[in-house]
This record gives sequence, structure tokens and C-alpha cells, in this order.
Amino acid sequence: MVGKRVRRKLLSCSFLALSAASEWGYPDLDNNQDEPFPKWGGLCDTGRKQSPINLHVKGALKGEFTPLKFENYDEHQGALQMVNNGHSIQLSGFAHDLTLSGGGLANDFVVEQIHMHWWSEHTINDIRYPLEVHIVHRNKIYPNITMAANFKDGITVIGVLYHVSNTPNDAIGSIIKSLDNVKSYAQMNVPTHVADSLAVDDLVPSVDTYFTYAGSLTTPTCAEAVTWIVLTNTFPVTLDQVNQFKEIEYKQDKQLHNNYRELQSENNRALVLVQQQQQQRDSAGRLSAQGLGLIVLLGVAVRQLQL
Ligand SMILES: [Zn+2]
Repeated sequence: MVGKRVRRKLLSCSFLALSAASEWGYPDLDNNQDEPFPKWGGLCDTGRKQSPINLHVKGALKGEFTPLKFENYDEHQGALQMVNNGHSIQLSGFAHDLTLSGGGLANDFVVEQIHMHWWSEHTINDIRYPLEVHIVHRNKIYPNITMAANFKDGITVIGVLYHVSNTPNDAIGSIIKSLDNVKSYAQMNVPTHVADSLAVDDLVPSVDTYFTYAGSLTTPTCAEAVTWIVLTNTFPVTLDQVNQFKEIEYKQDKQLHNNYRELQSENNRALVLVQQQQQQRDSAGRLSAQGLGLIVLLGVAVRQLQL
């Protein structure tokens, strides 16, 4: 019992609980679909670079960067920990540093934790997705995530959207297998081991096309420290799988049916669309189209000669 209390105390210092963890929450859309989104206070209410936003192709700025580089993301994690923190399901305890670099990033970033939102927080061209996974990275020049949250280059989050499908997602499935250990309110903030081995790679589709912009944490303190990288390629998930997450409790007999923040104003921020491979494919496509045109012309000429 004492051990449990100590663990709770430690966890209350963690990233997602930077301020008043138990005092903020999401609207209860089950009772009232139109319930206004609660005020979370501080920067959450007054910030000008808040997240999430609607990501739109129309009007986005074209970006070109060196490819993103992922180190150790393919390593199978045998000792991952999972916790229901009352706001999400969060994974941590990676065997080695998972390091992200390249793209528009000036430094190396290391994975701190992974959590999910149901439904998605970001929308793409006004379309919402059933699930969004956030891979939260800390800039290595800062010693911890709390410190990093004080700087605009402190945190990078990779956002991965999942689309509705009939095909269950294996990686999400292996997380769900251990969900029963953390679903109830009594188990809240008590970490459990993820039984299945999982590579973080398995949660990330192709990274050749993505939106990137300067934004914030989507939970209090809403620190404006986040370089967002939201991939446009999505992975399948079934609604049955997403519904498993909706069964976690945040109060006695109260299930967390939704944990996505409402869309924030863009406020004339630069929204950059990076299409790394697409550009190559486009130019190759154009080349072959030209080649095809030449063949058609030759064909016409040959036919005319035959006539
Ligand atoms: Zn998140």
C-alpha cells in the first residue's frame, strides 16, 4: 500500500501532470454532445500557438528538408510500461534512447513517452480520425521534459493518425492486450508491464509526407514548446479496438470516452507541408508521362506512314 502511494507520488511529477492533474478534464460528450470545452487556465486559454489545429493542404507552405532520421525505433521493446493516468494510456520505459533527428530539427530528440487520443486531436482537411498516437520527444540539450517545456525548441511530437478499417491493427492490438490491467479507477496511475513485445516503428507509417508547425502541448500546461510533425500517411484500426481505450476509467465508474482537445486558432502560423518522396515520384511520373506522349506521337506517325 505504501509502495503504491510512493509510486503515485512519483507519477504525479510526470510530464502529463505538470499542473493540477486531477483538476482538468474533457467534456462529458455522452451526457451532452454540445457541452462546451472546459477552460484549463493559463496558456491553455491565452496562448497564441496552441494545438491541435486543422491541418489543411490548401494554403500550406511547401517545405523541403533532409529526411527524418530514426535510431533504435525498430528495436523490440520487451519491458515497456503502461499507465492509465486518467487522461490517456501512456507508454514508457524504452530499453535504449530512441533518437529522432533530421527534417527541420536543429538537434537530436529522444523519445520520452507515447500516448494516444481518441478521437484524433488534429484534423486533416477538416476530417477527424478515430485515433491519434503521440510520440513525445525531448530535445537532448535539456536534461528533462519539464525543463524542455520552457523552451520553444524543447519538444517534438510525432503525431500518427489511424483511419477506420475492418482490419485490426497488430501493434495497437498488442497494447490493448495489457489494457485490462489498467482500466479500472483503482488501477489508475499504477503502471503495468506491456506483455507483448513492441517496436515503436510498428506505430509509425511511412514518414515521407507530413505537416509540421510550431504549437503546444494539448494538455495543461499547454506549453508552447512543441514542434509538431503530423504524418499524412495513416494506419488502419478498427472501431472495436478504439472502443477498448474508451473503457478506461478516470473516476469511479466513469469511463474516459473522449480525450481530444478542441481545435485551436491557427493565428497566421506557418503550416508547412513536406512531401519528400512524393516530389520524386511526381517528377518520375511527369517524365514517364512525357515518354508516353512521345510513344503515342510516334504511333500516330507510324500509322500515318502506313496509310
Ligand atoms: Zn497527446
